[in-house]
Amino acid sequence: GTDLDEEKIELLDFVGPKAREIIGQDCNIMSACAARPYPLVVDSAKGSIIRDIDGKEYIDLVAGIAVMNAGYSNPEVEAAISAQLEKMTHCGYGDFFAEPPLRLAKKLEKLSGYSKVFFCNSGTEAVEAAIKLAFWKTNRQGLISFYNAFHGRTLGSLSLTCSKVRQKEHFPAFRTAHSHYAYCYRCPLKLEYPSCGIECGKELENLIFRRDLSPEDTAAVFVEPVQGEGGYIVPPPEFHKEVRQICTDNDVLLVSDEVQTGCFRTGSFLALENFGVRAEISCLAKALGAGLPMGAMLADRELMDWPPGVHSNTFGGNLIASAASLASLEFLERENTENRVKELGSYIKQRLEELQDNFPCIGDVRGLGLMIGLEIVKPDKSIDPSTRDKILNEAFKEKILLLPCGDSVIRFSPPLVITAEELDLGLERFERVMKKATA
Ligand code: PMP
Repeated sequence: GTDLDEEKIELLDFVGPKAREIIGQDCNIMSACAARPYPLVVDSAKGSIIRDIDGKEYIDLVAGIAVMNAGYSNPEVEAAISAQLEKMTHCGYGDFFAEPPLRLAKKLEKLSGYSKVFFCNSGTEAVEAAIKLAFWKTNRQGLISFYNAFHGRTLGSLSLTCSKVRQKEHFPAFRTAHSHYAYCYRCPLKLEYPSCGIECGKELENLIFRRDLSPEDTAAVFVEPVQGEGGYIVPPPEFHKEVRQICTDNDVLLVSDEVQTGCFRTGSFLALENFGVRAEISCLAKALGAGLPMGAMLADRELMDWPPGVHSNTFGGNLIASAASLASLEFLERENTENRVKELGSYIKQRLEELQDNFPCIGDVRGLGLMIGLEIVKPDKSIDPSTRDKILNEAFKEKILLLPCGDSVIRFSPPLVITAEELDLGLERFERVMKKATA
């Protein structure tokens, strides 16, 4: 009665009786949006440690898919939630005003520099709002995104998503063209950085605007500062500058999808800041709600000048989610997160690079801040999803939580508050995992 894959069934021997019983019941009743990598039945969590229903403790090195940046059960976030709970939970910000979403909007303005915010409940809704704003503002209906991109699964955002055919087939799409991202480890143009001159970025102008969609028909280019689901792909410093310049030259809007990269994940509040680039529109979700459903589309006042009612929703700016979000951002801002993320990020990268000597299947180690990917390869450097999945299974047995992304990548995106001790323990376990998985 479970929806676990064949090779994950063996992991049931590593969880306790309560988890086995729950998973043994008819878990198929829930339609899963993704194949669950682990038979984990969670119960509670603190900081970076998740406790399962049988009391086993796991180090979460992925922060609930880059959501729990301020850590699980962060006392300040919990206090803000409790205080708001005492007052009321929902008011419908389209109809009334309330302090929590207003204060949050001001905080986002301070952190991002954008003067207007639209609140929603998820990443895909933030992207959907950006698509609508771009259509509305430009009166054009063509869109551009990049190969390997993930922007969501509702029909508009799905038109931009370009990572797996299973996600897209059967569904209609907006008029969208895809350009190459700077995936230097597997350069789609078979060139080498830096002698390539960022040809992949230039392709937007040299090819896409000539072959697929003219600038006069293009509302916006959507880009992830670091590709997330596509494989934690970090482009070289010039890539986003190139894309920005082409958008400016051709009078096309640039939208930065910061759903996974935002909220200090890469050090700076918005990841595009690392590249010295600003988009006209940015989308946030995941970590924004500190574990509650919360998304936002940010833009300047002159751009987001649509009249009331053009776009709206019921739950955006929910009072509890806004209170949690504000407390989490205040916490991260105060705790010198930017430096901490940069230090911890380079430490993890260095430790993982050291492993490359002993484990040649680690083809590439890349990352920005606390968004780090390991690409697992065969001796001829081709992708090796089966070894990657073996490593993930062993990781679960060693009680560290890691997730796959891309074709053959393991991602590390721990809570930004992970302690040095937890991190060292996690990396020690990961080395054991590599030994077992490649023995
Ligand atoms: N954009 C990006 C960059 C994402 O990583 C995701 C989620 N993985 C989404 C959009 C969609 O977010 P959600 O699942 O909250 O709809």
